[in-house]
Amino acid sequence: MHADTHKAITLAVTSALGIENSRSRRIAEAATTPDISPDYVKEKYRTRSGRERTRWVRVSHHGTPLSLLEEIAVEARHSLLEGKRDKADYMLGRLLHYLQDRPIPSPDVNKHLHDSFERECSKLNPISFMKKVEENCVIPVGKTETLKVLSRRKVASTPEEAMEEALKNSLSIASSILSSIFAPPKFSSLGKEVYDFFKSRSKEMFLYSLLQISLIIPFSIGVMRHDEPMLSLGYAFPRIIQIFVAFLIGIFIYDGICILTVALSSDMNKVLYKARRINDHIAPSSILSIFTATCHIIIPIIVILVSLLIYFRFFKFPTWKAIKEEIDWYIWK
Ligand SMILES: [Zn+2]
Repeated sequence: MHADTHKAITLAVTSALGIENSRSRRIAEAATTPDISPDYVKEKYRTRSGRERTRWVRVSHHGTPLSLLEEIAVEARHSLLEGKRDKADYMLGRLLHYLQDRPIPSPDVNKHLHDSFERECSKLNPISFMKKVEENCVIPVGKTETLKVLSRRKVASTPEEAMEEALKNSLSIASSILSSIFAPPKFSSLGKEVYDFFKSRSKEMFLYSLLQISLIIPFSIGVMRHDEPMLSLGYAFPRIIQIFVAFLIGIFIYDGICILTVALSSDMNKVLYKARRINDHIAPSSILSIFTATCHIIIPIIVILVSLLIYFRFFKFPTWKAIKEEIDWYIWK
């Protein structure tokens, strides 16, 4: 869509949300930026000799990859939670641009149709669509619902329909991203339940964290004896493997500190955020720990054992599963 159309749609949405003027103008201005400073994504291509290579290409605005939309949405929301309002508004504006371009037929498929849709849309007044849009708009609550709205793409069959779709999606997403930073009642009670659960098992968690952190001991022994590595892999590529192993050990120790935080902290936000991080890390880091066998066989044994224990003791209960996706979307109290 044309820059002025993006601005008009965005202003109609921010006005419906009751956002003050200067902030609305900032978001509307940001909604024109993806045409001026575009996002790039990696694309695979084949060279003349038939080799597969990757290159950076300007991202499509008509069918933008969902991963990019999600990334921008999460960045906008996180900026808001961190109190970086300007950045949040900028990211939100950019996201709205993509959502507004999305219902327009792609110029790659039909350039003439695309141009005529954009021309017609620029003649429409978004305000006159708002009443109908507000009646039919679903306001997502939380990250899961928001990402679901992002994933729906509908290519319009008329310019009016494109305008309606653009407004509806912009309103849904802007309303969710700009919603209160504090968890709403439907989530906060679950968050409290999860926090109490971790706190009731804090002694046990404390022991696991010590176990995880204690792997620094066999690692140090391994480093001291690095000219006689335990396994042949370490012997074949001592330097590279050692650097990689040192990096992995760093991750395991950081994981251990995260578990320690969940066990000992009385700050609900810290406990939930770190628990979420452990949950995401536990499977990949235990698989990667196999590499540390080149340093000392005991390390992967400890890591895998601790990971399994933690997973089955702490992350298998239903309330956690219901709430874990929402944790980084809110501040908890
Ligand atoms: Zn565009």
